[in-house]
Amino acid sequence: MKTHRPIQLPTPKTIIEPFRIKMIEPIGMLRPEERVRLLAEAGYNVFKLPAEAVTFDLLTDSGTSAMSAQQWSAMMAGDESYAGAKSFYNFERAVKDLTGMRHVIPTHQGRAAESLLMKAMLKPGQIVIGNTHFDTTRANIESAGGIAKDMPCKAAADSGVIDPFKGNINTEELDSYLKENKSKVGFVIMTVTNNSLAGQPVAMGNLRAAKEIAKKHGIPFFLDVARFAENSYFIKTREADYSQKTVKEIAQEMFSLADGALMSSKKDAFGNIGGFLALNNNEVAEAVRTLMVITEGFPTYGGLAGRDLEALAVGLEEVLDENYLAYRIRSIQYFGEGIEAAGLKIVKPLGGHAVYIDAGKTLPHIPALKFPGQALSVALYEHIGIRCCEVGSVMLGHRDAKTGVEHPAPVEQVRLAIPRRVYTQSHVDYMIEMIGYLAPYLGDLPGYEFEYQAPMLRHFSARFRRC
Ligand SMILES: *Cc1c(COP(=O)(O)O)cnc(C)c1O
Repeated sequence: MKTHRPIQLPTPKTIIEPFRIKMIEPIGMLRPEERVRLLAEAGYNVFKLPAEAVTFDLLTDSGTSAMSAQQWSAMMAGDESYAGAKSFYNFERAVKDLTGMRHVIPTHQGRAAESLLMKAMLKPGQIVIGNTHFDTTRANIESAGGIAKDMPCKAAADSGVIDPFKGNINTEELDSYLKENKSKVGFVIMTVTNNSLAGQPVAMGNLRAAKEIAKKHGIPFFLDVARFAENSYFIKTREADYSQKTVKEIAQEMFSLADGALMSSKKDAFGNIGGFLALNNNEVAEAVRTLMVITEGFPTYGGLAGRDLEALAVGLEEVLDENYLAYRIRSIQYFGEGIEAAGLKIVKPLGGHAVYIDAGKTLPHIPALKFPGQALSVALYEHIGIRCCEVGSVMLGHRDAKTGVEHPAPVEQVRLAIPRRVYTQSHVDYMIEMIGYLAPYLGDLPGYEFEYQAPMLRHFSARFRRC
């Protein structure tokens, strides 16, 4: 008898979600006239729109994941004991399995872990070096009296350069800086993927080199791992010698380089809330546990319910599923390619959690101080029902308090962040189709000016008028 061999079919072009849907949530299906009215009421600020009025909410990938049936069922087993709950030990086991670290401390979200780490580690005036600090990381360094210093790699400076690991740190600069200034440096922290740099990944080779430089100068080496699984998947698919390793092995190797890590579990742990600190140093862990009682709670729950800890423990394993990661990364590339084919200018290469549109290049008729990113994000909501986030002169620029002069930001971008496991391929196809219909009208979009702005973090509460 002939042995049976399956027919070799080509690799399909269609991306499928590696899950099926058991529970649904309606999305806002409003008429354009209703969106026009809501935008005017919100002062053309999409942060002030009710979420119910949004069809595709791409404001952030943080805390917006769909949980799995396994996560929901684990939540039912949550142990809500104040101290030493079973759910803590389940969570601790999951984090230790991944990180190999001695101490696991839950927090209510990433920035709480940052705040505790900075307070426990930094002396006033000490410098913290990163590939690019995320904005809450920077704020927590500064609020603890430290100085945040970014050292992105050279390729990162040019949005046109295609480089597989644009999230890297500049190792030559790191080495020469530490040679001169090591006495002033508290520690080095690498953010994977590099959120503030369009979600670009960091290579294992770069992490290893940065670790060795830090070690040579006696400086502790930390990781900010909100998107550790996406970064590990990029290493597997883009870096020599990693294609045969599992994503979990790659993640474990990454953690083995570090003295400690902090995570916002609202990203790659599929959590709607949560975070943690994982540490090897006993004194730092003890200092954190002492500090946290004031703000986060007892060290075995850290501001979370037992059921949250259960959901996160399951999420940390699920995110390492390579079918999921292949779908995740491919679907973001597909969305970006579709937007580019529709004639808009995007930031390349595409990163791990979002598509960034270069609004400056896409709307060249709107000068920076009439906010092209604002114009595009308002138009995407008004005409398509997409809510996204301006990352340009509204968010990163500032007005001089004395002179009232507006200063632009170095980039004018719009970020379309993709929540995990939430939108389907047909949602993405629909958005691409509608962006294609909108493209011929982009030259007619108006610019904006401030009607009101707060002195800090103005993008959240600002009101605008068209000009
Ligand atoms: C989201 C994020 C944080 C902050 O975490 P929160 O859970 O939002 O407080 C810190 N670092 C990075 C890289 C992030 O993406």
